[in-house]
Amino acid sequence: MTDSPAGLLTIDLGAIAANYRLLAEKAAPAEAAAAVKADGYGLGLEPVVRILANQGCRTFFVATIEEGVELRALLPDAGICVLNGMIAGAPADFKAQRLVPVLNDLGQVDAWRRWSRDNGPAPAALHLDTGMARLGLPPAETDILADDPAQLDGVQLALIMSHLACADAPDDPLNRQQRDAFAAALARLPSAPASLAASSGIFLGPEYHFDMVRPGVCLHGVNPRPGQPNPMAPVVRLQAKILQIRDVDTPQTVGYGATHRFAGPTRVATVAAGYADGYPRSLSGRGTARFRGIPVPVIGRVSMDLITLDVTRAPEARPGDMVDLIGPHHDVDALAAEAGTIGYEILTGLGRRYARRYVNGGDRA
Ligand SMILES: *Cc1c(COP(=O)(O)O)cnc(C)c1O
Repeated sequence: MTDSPAGLLTIDLGAIAANYRLLAEKAAPAEAAAAVKADGYGLGLEPVVRILANQGCRTFFVATIEEGVELRALLPDAGICVLNGMIAGAPADFKAQRLVPVLNDLGQVDAWRRWSRDNGPAPAALHLDTGMARLGLPPAETDILADDPAQLDGVQLALIMSHLACADAPDDPLNRQQRDAFAAALARLPSAPASLAASSGIFLGPEYHFDMVRPGVCLHGVNPRPGQPNPMAPVVRLQAKILQIRDVDTPQTVGYGATHRFAGPTRVATVAAGYADGYPRSLSGRGTARFRGIPVPVIGRVSMDLITLDVTRAPEARPGDMVDLIGPHHDVDALAAEAGTIGYEILTGLGRRYARRYVNGGDRA
């Protein structure tokens, strides 16, 4: 197999490093941790955490205990918090791998306290729900804890955290409400480092930073401030190969469902990427790729392994050439907007079939 890959995902580790430095500077003196769940937002856990650790990142957040175990093998000394809590593992499983469970209800608090009494103290984080109604102690449970702090006796509180629902909408009053509810709860609980902001929350200002911030998606270039210029460096370029080119004319149609009918002579490029590669089917008749910077629209339906592009305006395109699906002229946010989704979903949905090339990762300490 000497053929070049049909799909190529280039991940700029130097850009991840630069993004981390920008966030760390913005958040200082708060610590900049990193959320690296879902395989480092789809970009590969190992290369992502190695470059972040090189930049001085000491604390990482994952979703599941399995992700925590995988990360522990890569970074023996890092702090690793498991957001989904203790549902999936017994306390001993966390302790064995030195993982910090994020305790999400009073039952988990009690389990960790009793276990720590018998086996020696080990750090845990406490997640307070301040208005998202997702994970974390509901306000009534926070009150119970505040009124009876003995329930935390023996629990080594490494962090008290909460999560913002609307941080990407700076004017939403819920931001301020959650921040104030969090600060009020902190004042009533035993002292511990505190964390509220993820990517977008960092940009709400210093009063949202507390002792630690937990960015994820914007490390990978996604805009933390939708609608404003993106302060982050782009990380991802996704290219796919043209497999075939044909000239067509009316009354022909293209692809499944015959959804696109040609209005006149058209050059069609069939390209090796589809929804099985995380190129959303919602881009049928709506997406745009680029051939050497020239926009080439998706025509007809996105199928599992293929898309069809109108390359009439790029007459020099040939089979074997690559088109950009995500790239300098068309970033993750632009693709997500066309698809009616968010950059998070695009990144974490990137398929397994692309060859992956990591660049600018060397010698960056
Ligand atoms: C995913 C997650 C983060 C990181 O969020 P981004 O928006 O990607 O920065 C931080 N905290 C919690 C609780 C999360 O679930």
